[in-house]
Amino acid sequence: MSRPEIRVQGLHKSFGDNHVLRGIDLEIDQGEVVCVIGPSGSGKSTLLRCVNLLEEPSEGQVFVGGTEITDPDVDIDAARRRIGMVFQQFNLFPHLTVTENLTLPQRRVLGRGRAEAARVAAENLARVGLAEKAAAYPASLSGGQQQRVAIARALAMGPDVMLFDEPTSALDPELVGDVLAVMRGLAEEGMTMMVVTHEMTFAREVADRVVFMDGGVVVEDGSPDQVIGAPRHERTRHFLSRLL
Ligand code: ADP
Ligand code: MG
Repeated sequence: MSRPEIRVQGLHKSFGDNHVLRGIDLEIDQGEVVCVIGPSGSGKSTLLRCVNLLEEPSEGQVFVGGTEITDPDVDIDAARRRIGMVFQQFNLFPHLTVTENLTLPQRRVLGRGRAEAARVAAENLARVGLAEKAAAYPASLSGGQQQRVAIARALAMGPDVMLFDEPTSALDPELVGDVLAVMRGLAEEGMTMMVVTHEMTFAREVADRVVFMDGGVVVEDGSPDQVIGAPRHERTRHFLSRLL
């Protein structure tokens, strides 16, 4: 039986006069991988940022694991801890080793002790194939390795849900594959994932559903074969034709 891990209802977001999200309804079940595609400026990042309350919705509700995180009475820090986020820019601390990048948030935010944080860090570095880089500094790593560290850092917090905002867009093409392989592994482990990406091969092979956004609305939401392979809407067709 599946239950929605993420539920977005009637979500609107404006920045001043700019009405960016214009009524988004979306459900993502536990263990489901949903890729969000769409043109630049369509509101994909804003949607992700509303799901973990980096942006405050102007209207509507967001539920994560059954808790309404848009409820003003909810403990927002506790809610956010259940959601891991990976950005285009990896944002690692340059003066800390890879291990320290993973242990610092565990200790500060979760209050874990030194030994436990180190154990969880090692576990998650192994998960992304970077156990041997534990003592390295970020600047000595490739962009792809830095992004895998950023993924491990998010995983070390034990999230129920992982959000990815164009995680491979800043990488040289030859480094993209390793990051996508880590994400594919996470999907196979059953992680609930919402992934904004332009990687159509990844979307076709890994996503359970693809959501096409344009102009702040969901235009199309269906299986990868349907949305990418046989889009019903002209806007989707137009977007996909420009990616080829
Ligand atoms: P996408 O990720 O699909 O490219 P975004 O969600 O980043 O789209 O942006 C959608 C629109 O929202 C754009 O017009 C952008 O300028 C605007 N926007 C996004 N974030 C902010 C912000 N913090 N302040 C003002 N405008 C913003
Ligand atoms: Mg974006």
